[in-house]
Amino acid sequence: MKVDVVVIGGGAAGMAAALKVSEQGARVVLVERDERVGGILNQCIHNGFGLHYFREELTGPEYAERFKKALEEKDIEVLTNTFVKALDVREKKLVVVSEDGIRILETKALVYAAGARERAFGSLMVPGDRPSGIFTAGVAQRFMNVENRLPGKRALILGSGDIGLIMARRLTLEGVEVVGVVERLPYPGGLLRNVIQCLEDFGIPLFLSSTVVEVRGRERLEEVVVAKVDENFQPIPGTEKVFEVDTLILSVGLIPQIELLEDLVEVNPTSKGIATSNLGQTSIEWIFAAGNCTAIYDLVDYVTYEGEMAGKYAALYAKGERFGPKVAVKAGENVMVVQPNWYDPSEELTLYVRTRKVIEKGRLVVGSFEKTFEELVPSEMLRVKIPRRHLNGLSEIVVEVKEE
Ligand SMILES: Cc1cc2nc3c(=O)[nH]c(=O)nc-3n(C[C@H](O)[C@H](O)[C@H](O)COP(=O)(O)OP(=O)(O)OC[C@H]3O[C@@H](n4cnc5c(N)ncnc54)[C@H](O)[C@@H]3O)c2cc1C
Repeated sequence: MKVDVVVIGGGAAGMAAALKVSEQGARVVLVERDERVGGILNQCIHNGFGLHYFREELTGPEYAERFKKALEEKDIEVLTNTFVKALDVREKKLVVVSEDGIRILETKALVYAAGARERAFGSLMVPGDRPSGIFTAGVAQRFMNVENRLPGKRALILGSGDIGLIMARRLTLEGVEVVGVVERLPYPGGLLRNVIQCLEDFGIPLFLSSTVVEVRGRERLEEVVVAKVDENFQPIPGTEKVFEVDTLILSVGLIPQIELLEDLVEVNPTSKGIATSNLGQTSIEWIFAAGNCTAIYDLVDYVTYEGEMAGKYAALYAKGERFGPKVAVKAGENVMVVQPNWYDPSEELTLYVRTRKVIEKGRLVVGSFEKTFEELVPSEMLRVKIPRRHLNGLSEIVVEVKEE
C-alpha cells in the first residue's frame, strides 16, 4: 500500500494527526493495534477531558467518540487490530501485522503517536513475596471500566499521580474499600483538583513521604508494609505500618513508548520521549511524533494540539515542503521537563514545562520573555506560548524558572 502519511497509534494524538493530514488533502492511513481507536481514553470513564479544546467537560470515551466520528466522516482509512512491527528508515517502509498477515506500507511521511506505558512493579525492587493482587493502575482501570471485573475487595494505592487518585475514587464507587494512597514525595503527584475530588471528597487518607517496603502473601496478597521515608527517599526504620489488603494498585509513573524508534531518532533527555521540534518533527526529517510518546502530558487537550501540529507538518512534508533551520531548546534552572526540543520559526513556540520542585513564586525566563507564576508543582505542566519576537537571534533557547 502506498500513502502520503502513515500515523502509528489511534489515541488522542494519532486521531488528531490523521484528521489534520486529511485536511491538508494528503492520503493518510491510521494504524492501531487495538480493536478500536481512542487509546487510553476508552478506559478513562471519568469526566475532566476537553475543557480547553471543546470548552466542555467530557468523559474519555466521549472525547474519543468526537474524533472517531470525524475520522469516519472524512473517510480516513483506519487499520485496527494491526500492529506496526518494524520500520525501514531508508526505504520509508513499515511492516504491519494483522490477522490477515503481514503487509508493507510505503509512505512519504510518518506520525508516530504510540502513547505511553506504565512503570511496572518489578522495576520498584520491593522486597517480599510475589502473590497475585498487585496491579498497575491502568490494568485495574481496564478490568473495571472495560471488562467489568473487580480487582479485589480491600486496596492500598501506591503513587498519588492522577491515575492513582482517579482509581482510588473509582474503586470506592465500585464498593472496594480503599485504605489509603501512599506517596513518597512530601506533596501529592497528581493535579490538585484530583486530590480534592478523588480523595478528600471520599475521606481516603493520603500518606505523604511514605513508601511500600514489603509485600506479603502466599497465593494472594495479604499484607503491605508501609514506612516513612527521609529526604533521600530511604525508609526510616521503626516507622513501619502494616495494611491488611488483598490488592495493591501501582500508579508510579508513565514511560513514553518509544521502542520502535528508540535507536533511530534522538530522545528528549528531560522526558525520555521522542525528541521533536514545535512542528512535531523528529531528528529524522520525514518522521514526526506527538502525544505521550514525546512527553507525558497532563491533559488530553494538549496531546490533541500537538497531534494536529504533527499531522499538519507531516502532510506538508509529504507534499514536498521543507522546514527549518531549528534552534535547540534546553532545560535550565529548576526545569525538569521541557518539550519540544527544537524551535522552528515556521510556527510560534508553545512550551510545555514541568518544574523540578515546588516553587511558591517563580519567574519563567525564555529569551527576552518573562512571566511570573504562583504555586508551581512538578505534577502540573505549564503550557506557555512564547511570541516570536522574544526568540529572535537566539542560537540556543534556555528555559529557566527563577525563584522569587
Ligand atoms: C488513567 C488516566 C487518566 C487521565 N485523566 C485525564 C483527565 O481527566 N483529563 C485529561 O485531559 N487527560 C487525562 N489523561 C491524559 C490523557 O488521557 C492522555 O494524555 C492522552 O489520552 C494520551 O494520548 P496519546 O494518543 O498520546 O496516547 P494513547 O491514548 O496511549 O494512544 C496510543 C495508541 O497507540 C497504539 N499503539 C502503540 N504502539 C503501536 C504499534 N506499534 N502499532 C499500532 N498501534 C500502536 C496504542 O494501542 C494506543 O491506542 C489521563 C490519562 C490516564 C492514563
